[in-house]
Amino acid sequence: MESAEIARRYLRYFEQNGHTIVPSASLIAEDPTLLLVPAGMVPFKPYFLAQRTPPAPRMTSCQKCVRTPDIEEVGRTTRHATFFQMLGNFSIGDYFKEQAIPFAWELLTRSQSDGGFGFPEERLWVTVLHDDDESAEIWHKNVGVPMDRIQRRGLADNFWHMGVPGPGGPCSEIYYDRGPEHGREGGPEADEDRYLEVWNLVFMQYQLSQVRSKVDFDIAGDLPAKNIDTGMGLERMAALLQGVDNIYETDTMWKVLDRAAQLTETRYGANETDDVSLRVVADHVRSGMMLVADGIIPSNEGRGYVLRRILRRAVRKLRLLGGQERGMLHELTATAIGAMGEQYPELIRTAANIHTVIDAEEESFSRTLRTGENIFDVAVKESRASGREVVGGADAFKLHDTYGFPIELTLEMAAEQGLSVDEEGFRRLMTEQRERAKRDAQEKKTGNADVSVLGDLLERTGGTVDFLGYRDFTAEARAV
Ligand code: ATP
Ligand code: MG
Ligand code: MG
Ligand code: MG
Repeated sequence: MESAEIARRYLRYFEQNGHTIVPSASLIAEDPTLLLVPAGMVPFKPYFLAQRTPPAPRMTSCQKCVRTPDIEEVGRTTRHATFFQMLGNFSIGDYFKEQAIPFAWELLTRSQSDGGFGFPEERLWVTVLHDDDESAEIWHKNVGVPMDRIQRRGLADNFWHMGVPGPGGPCSEIYYDRGPEHGREGGPEADEDRYLEVWNLVFMQYQLSQVRSKVDFDIAGDLPAKNIDTGMGLERMAALLQGVDNIYETDTMWKVLDRAAQLTETRYGANETDDVSLRVVADHVRSGMMLVADGIIPSNEGRGYVLRRILRRAVRKLRLLGGQERGMLHELTATAIGAMGEQYPELIRTAANIHTVIDAEEESFSRTLRTGENIFDVAVKESRASGREVVGGADAFKLHDTYGFPIELTLEMAAEQGLSVDEEGFRRLMTEQRERAKRDAQEKKTGNADVSVLGDLLERTGGTVDFLGYRDFTAEARAV
């Protein structure tokens, strides 16, 4: 079953059950607590909080999502992408768990010829929050899931919130058993690789006032109503329904992966390191394209920095795979546009612009990548020679400042060599530089009116070298 068909089926099922189909919101979150949309519920948050009246009490959507904090997992697990699509059904004070649970079960197990996904019941496992007897009972008594396939888990897995004050609630998740060749027996509690999490049903009922971590938060009280927020990973469903091992081998991502293998003359499946790189490239090209399509351009701060980091990581992975030529990212972006264009016609409409932005980023990083890598190699040799296992902060700073290496890339390259990076030293130099830039701007302002106009302009167009990316990214990482 093609990805586009999975989305169609999901939306149609919930439409038939009284839900209004709502188009995906932009990846640029309206929510000021977030840089990018990491989950389908984000556009619905004002409804949960009763800050806005929903267009309908029952809604369903296929939301574009980016989760930068999952970037390290990409290609290494079978199931994490930075860009993915979350299908969801939402109830704003309408039905609650007694209805959300049977809806999910019916859609997953109904035969494919009858509009469902046709999963065999005995392959499905569910989890509930440790003391959520009510949900366990609905699963067991109303739906008929045997008790030994209902697992109780703690807050880390079965309580959902956004990482910031706002709505939250216990959740119940549905997992698909991929079989003994994929890992240990014992349900999702034992092995999340064998038991693939496909769908999270969140019983959105509390208002959180403080969130210190995933498991440490304060509940201020009940939301104005009991709501439902669910999230099903389209790429994970595609992996299961297309009978492939992981999400990077599903229809749309596979096209990009396969093209990357061709361009770099590597064979997917020949060795694990290259396979991981190919999967990373496939994922990052897709995210880069989707971020640009939503109007983001690479820069040194905020969302632009997330995009820059993703694109530059893809360029380096291509180089690691042996790709010597520039223009590979261009080729792969064209492939990704072709693969996703049916679902997202705006990609085809704005293809020229997407290429302009991505080509420019590829071109500018390709110019400095080689020299930067040499500088990095020297730094590694020096630190090893001096018996230290650390790449100096000054080197990391130079790589960032002169050669455009995002700090996360330097960290990754160091980790590949079994080294760490003096991040504190790096950050100190970044702060010094920022202060220097501010001072300079100030001096110019007081000294010469014309220059001050130029300075202001530079600031507004993002021409300053202020590095806020690291800080902003960390804020986002905390938010998910
Ligand atoms: P996992 O435990 O596998 O990291 P999660 O619990 O963080 O997933 P949720 O926040 O519950 O995921 O999101 C709802 C659904 O979205 C998941 O059940 C999954 O199908 C999908 N999903 C979440 N993160 C990703 C990702 N990085 N790539 C692809 N799909 C994802
Ligand atoms: Mg996760
Ligand atoms: Mg999970
Ligand atoms: Mg989950």
